[in-house]
Amino acid sequence: ESVVYWMRMGDLRISDNRALSLASAHAKKNKLPLVSLFVLNPQDYKAHDRSARRIDFTLRNLASIKDSLAKLHIPLYTITHPKRREIPGQIITFLEQLNASAVYANIEYEVDELRRDIQICKAAKSKGFGAHFVHDKCVVEPGVVLTKENRTYAVYSPYQRAWIKKLNANIPHFLEDCQEPHPNPQSVYENKNIKDLFNSQVPQSIPGFELDPDDRKRMDLAWPAGEIAANEMLRRFLHTKSRTSQMVPSNPLADGAEDSPKHSRLTAYDADRDNADKDTTSRLSPYLAAGIISARACIRATMPSTKNAHVESGRWVQEIAWRDFYVCILAGYPRVSMGRPYQEKSADIVWEGPALDNAYTDGEQQINPKAELPLTTSESNIEKWKSGQTGYPIVDAGMRCVKETGYLHNRVRMICAMFLVKHLMIDWRVGEKYFMENLIDGDLASNNGGWQWVASTGVDACPYFRIFNPYNQSSKADPTGEFIRHFVPELARARGPELHNPPASVADKLKYPHPIVKHEESRDRAIRRFKNPGTA
Ligand code: FAD
Repeated sequence: ESVVYWMRMGDLRISDNRALSLASAHAKKNKLPLVSLFVLNPQDYKAHDRSARRIDFTLRNLASIKDSLAKLHIPLYTITHPKRREIPGQIITFLEQLNASAVYANIEYEVDELRRDIQICKAAKSKGFGAHFVHDKCVVEPGVVLTKENRTYAVYSPYQRAWIKKLNANIPHFLEDCQEPHPNPQSVYENKNIKDLFNSQVPQSIPGFELDPDDRKRMDLAWPAGEIAANEMLRRFLHTKSRTSQMVPSNPLADGAEDSPKHSRLTAYDADRDNADKDTTSRLSPYLAAGIISARACIRATMPSTKNAHVESGRWVQEIAWRDFYVCILAGYPRVSMGRPYQEKSADIVWEGPALDNAYTDGEQQINPKAELPLTTSESNIEKWKSGQTGYPIVDAGMRCVKETGYLHNRVRMICAMFLVKHLMIDWRVGEKYFMENLIDGDLASNNGGWQWVASTGVDACPYFRIFNPYNQSSKADPTGEFIRHFVPELARARGPELHNPPASVADKLKYPHPIVKHEESRDRAIRRFKNPGTA
């Protein structure tokens, strides 16, 4: 007999991991060996637009986890299986081969993943093993913070107030630091069924998701794998000052940051967080998305170490609450994870070029955009947006940053996303997909939430008539101009306001493109179309 911990893409850590901790306690109590399992499924990654960067990050972290688990004599067995629909069968066979009496996993809230887990639960019932799926991703799990009518909140501010109240009312429950897994006895190496599992290898790459060697090197430097790196990233955010010239993610383990608790990035966060020209934020998103650090640990780290301490609702804590909020939306309104807008009426908005509604696929079929023929201009505009050639410096800097680093500062994500949706009138799902395919922190709940917010189609979304002026946004988000200068080197010699809005003569001289659309004209078009869905 044995107990199995099934690790998912969003819980790549050993510390403070609910399912792993529970599985280990179960195994110890019943004197059974603990085995961990990870399933790699390229078809699933394709269907969910996973970026090669996120897959590479997953594999790098798995390799590190495998080593740590081996020290506890716990094997990490990996299955790579091409057919998505056959995964539940593969897992059940594995559990049978190990004569598992129980399997533990942290819940994934996306529709396909829930459907898959239901199959495991059904098999557990008929075959007589225990299937335990537990909440771990959020600080306060979906279904706990509800409106008076017992519904999922669709507006953030009251949600956040209720969230912090709930959290502070039962800190030991929500912020409990889970017990570390116990080591398996040495004798697991003599167990015939388990011995071979130690030989299972974590692949170096997955076909179709390989990174080119230079990109891999860059990702490895900027986002080192493992819990130590994630914890160091958090420590630096809490205790060190922003380094002005560090707008590009850099190795958190390298020297160079001095402790300055009074003027740390956390204490300056409220004032500085919208500045993309220095490292004002934590850059923990890749680690949180992959679960290399728990959201609980982030909140705990902001609390004073005194007895009966409470969680203060500071700006940064509120960002973690946004993360929980979007997971609740995904769980409460599953249509948003199937390519549909939260606000159903916005499904009729007339987009330029390819519409991606009903693009949801279960991974067996390819995405099939509506038969509507894409306009050449909009296709070319999409390409210019992706490659950072729109003639709007802040948009171009942001989009080149996505391409080069796999990461983008939140304010610039908003500016780039709104430009695509409102200025170019391109379906938000085109941008959502592109971000997922390129970001290292790509996460369905937060990415979908962010895109539906800027597109005014989501919960508590930006009002349709509030359209960012990219020039004003540019000088606010990049007051020194360092961000634009770094990613758009053609503009390095432009000075003052010309950097944010280069006149035609300057653009020509510096070989920088003219704006592909006019701000006022496109804003008026967007307001017209959003006000009257269904009309062009
Ligand atoms: P910090 O400012 O240090 O915030 C701490 C953590 O809080 C983040 O790591 C993140 O986990 C969470 N957080 C912060 N802001 C948000 C937010 N607006 N919504 C949800 N969670 C938030 N975030 C992702 O993790 N994955 C995505 O795929 C993603 N796509 C986005 C797409 C768009 C169009 C927009 C506007 C936002 C998106 N975000 C996404 C949210 C946000 O931009 C990033 O979480 C943030 O920029 C990460 O940087 P950081 O870790 O330094 O954040």
